[in-house]
Amino acid sequence: MTTTRTNTNILISGASVAGPALAYWLRRHGFTVTVVERATALRDGGYAVDFRGDVQLSLLRRMGILADVEREQTHMGDMSYVNAAGKKVATMPSVASGDLEIFRGDLARILYDATKDDTEYLFGDSITALTEDDEGVWVTFERAAPRRYDLVVGADGLHSNVRALAFGPDRDAIEHLGLYCAVFTMDNHLGLDHAGLTYVVPGKVVCVYSARHNTEAKAMFFFGSPPFPYDRHDTGRQKKIVAEVFDGIGWETPRLLDAMGKDPDFYFDSVSQVHLDSWSRGRVVLLGDAAHSPSLLSGMGTGLAMVGAYVLAGELAAAGGDHQAGFAGYEEAMRDYVAGCQRAGQGIAKWMVPTSRFMIWFINLNYRLLSCLPWKGLMARAMINAARGTAGAITLKPYDSALGVGPPM
Ligand SMILES: Cc1cc2nc3c(=O)[nH]c(=O)nc-3n(C[C@H](O)[C@H](O)[C@H](O)COP(=O)(O)OP(=O)(O)OC[C@H]3O[C@@H](n4cnc5c(N)ncnc54)[C@H](O)[C@@H]3O)c2cc1C
Repeated sequence: MTTTRTNTNILISGASVAGPALAYWLRRHGFTVTVVERATALRDGGYAVDFRGDVQLSLLRRMGILADVEREQTHMGDMSYVNAAGKKVATMPSVASGDLEIFRGDLARILYDATKDDTEYLFGDSITALTEDDEGVWVTFERAAPRRYDLVVGADGLHSNVRALAFGPDRDAIEHLGLYCAVFTMDNHLGLDHAGLTYVVPGKVVCVYSARHNTEAKAMFFFGSPPFPYDRHDTGRQKKIVAEVFDGIGWETPRLLDAMGKDPDFYFDSVSQVHLDSWSRGRVVLLGDAAHSPSLLSGMGTGLAMVGAYVLAGELAAAGGDHQAGFAGYEEAMRDYVAGCQRAGQGIAKWMVPTSRFMIWFINLNYRLLSCLPWKGLMARAMINAARGTAGAITLKPYDSALGVGPPM
């Protein structure tokens, strides 16, 4: 293991989960880090994300943020299916969420707080061009003056700007899983207590769950559709698309659509995965959803981003900053793990939005039977263990101890 250092000055694009987590580990290994984020301030809205199993929880512990994440966890309970009259027809046990569920914005805040004192953050800016030579990468920004960095990391999500600049057009990288998703915040007018309700008609799913200790609620709408073009920055148009698709389907949907119109923190996107043959091009490397989004349905994207940050920083440090060796080690360590998480995402996408009344009846029947069966505890444990197995299918090297700055995992 070498400790000779090159490539010490690193730029990361994206300050959500992957970016600040990488900044944390790079700083611990002695690199200098700048993070550029397009939003003008930390984006603290969003939806619930989760961590599963020992590998992911041990990373939070090692970062010293496990107690902070536990303090902010959602404590979400059961999710019930309702019919058009609002009557509960089946209940999905709470095991469907992970071991530790937290709102993405709360996690981003915790990661930012853990890094802000020794990481430079540039909010309200974006990279416009990357020009690489033997010595590094010349980076131009929309607002900041151009600068030279040794390495650039794209941690800027499913529609990564860095990926577009360094890898070319997205059309080959993004695989649409046949669904679209809208998420927004609203009043908890249904009085949900750490619980959620789901209403399903063929091809469409409406889900509402309580948030922030029941003081508000999050609504999630899913619908099946082949990919269609829309302006990703025009939220007004996106809300119209959602309103048209869900018009007249019944239950609480009109009230929810009304609330959607008023929410400034509206999210709309396709349910998609990212597949690339390689996650790096020269001195530029991708991390988190930018590299290998398993889709928002997999329940694995956040843990994957955090594990990837640890591995990328560790492999770079172990290679003494040599980006070719470090990036190769990162891919080798992560490829199989990513493939497992992506398979989980594909499986869930297939049944998330049932396309016929028979399928809806069949799924509800299964949940109803599950709650009556004497061995329901066993089945719940099997579900938990399957997800934990996917989330834990990687052995992390103790990079810190190799560099003499921390205990082994
Ligand atoms: C509705 C929904 C539900 C989800 N549920 C779960 C779940 O239950 N469990 C789970 O594990 N995961 C879940 N996920 C997935 C999870 O949010 C992501 O996998 C995870 O956040 C990946 O983090 P990231 O940092 O790679 O990307 P992102 O969180 O997408 O962050 C990318 C960042 O880059 C910034 N950015 C974008 N463009 C630029 C630019 N040009 N310049 C600078 N910055 C830029 C963005 O503003 C953002 O801050 C869900 C996602 C969604 C959308």
